[in-house]
Amino acid sequence: LLHNQVQDLKGNIRVYCRVRPFLSNQCDEKSTIDHIGEDGSIMIVNPQKPGKDARKIFSFNKVFGANATQIEVFADTQPLIRSVMDGYNVCIFAYGQTGSGKTYTMSGPDVTTVETWGVNYRALNDLFCISRSRADVVSYDVSIQMIEIYNEQGNRAVGATALNERSSRSHSVLTVHVQGRELATDSILRGCLHLVDLAGSERVDKSEATGERLREAQHINRSLSALGDVISALAQKSSHIPYRNSKLTQVLQDALGGQAKTLMFVHINPEVNAFGETISTLKFAERVA
Ligand code: ADP
Ligand code: MG
Repeated sequence: LLHNQVQDLKGNIRVYCRVRPFLSNQCDEKSTIDHIGEDGSIMIVNPQKPGKDARKIFSFNKVFGANATQIEVFADTQPLIRSVMDGYNVCIFAYGQTGSGKTYTMSGPDVTTVETWGVNYRALNDLFCISRSRADVVSYDVSIQMIEIYNEQGNRAVGATALNERSSRSHSVLTVHVQGRELATDSILRGCLHLVDLAGSERVDKSEATGERLREAQHINRSLSALGDVISALAQKSSHIPYRNSKLTQVLQDALGGQAKTLMFVHINPEVNAFGETISTLKFAERVA
């Protein structure tokens, strides 16, 4: 019963790209998104520099355009979440520059509106539903922990205000531990789900950033590239996986690699002035895909 759910033909690492819509005050702006293909491709263009070499194509497992709803995005995430109840470890990451929609995907804009719920709420909802529906076969225990990684230090969640203020400069990790006991046999299975809203990936201008701001930027760059190194080593089935290079990859080590499943959402801001960051985001993502 428990292990027959997931026939995973795509492998254990997948990458989805999501394009943020223009915000309501930006309706006249030009977009850097030229074309999105059904096959998971996205074509990027810089409208300020048109020309033959201006277009770049990147390929992912799937691309969600600006009109994709939270429900559509979750539909492609749900099987992964469900596998946690069967004893798999799963990591879901939101990557992208600040303002590209990471928190929108993971949390959503407004807890009180169910239609706009992000992955986190939908995931928890699903886990509890599954737990209830299997209650006469498996007894589940679900526990939740939230940590923030700021400047390479593992912190228990600070107050909501403080968290908000530096949310673009810290990684927030919501972890759900699931333990199931099969009633007939007393056998135990354990799974865990990490839902990670990463620090903003934008490059900070070294000539402008000083002191604390520069230190933050260096920590972020180091940990995001360490994450990229780990995922691309896993994707290439390398014999050495460099988990030790950052706090983030150390914390998530048990849920990266082996039988574990990884999903990375990379977020794109379609504005022309974000073109450079968009290209570097897509390059990062292609390296791990
Ligand atoms: P990040 O967490 O990457 O800094 P946010 O999730 O806070 O970015 O998104 C920036 C702004 O864009 C917010 O106002 C958010 O509500 C809005 N936004 C992001 N993604 C979407 C989307 N898919 N649909 C509608 N609004 C979005
Ligand atoms: Mg955010």
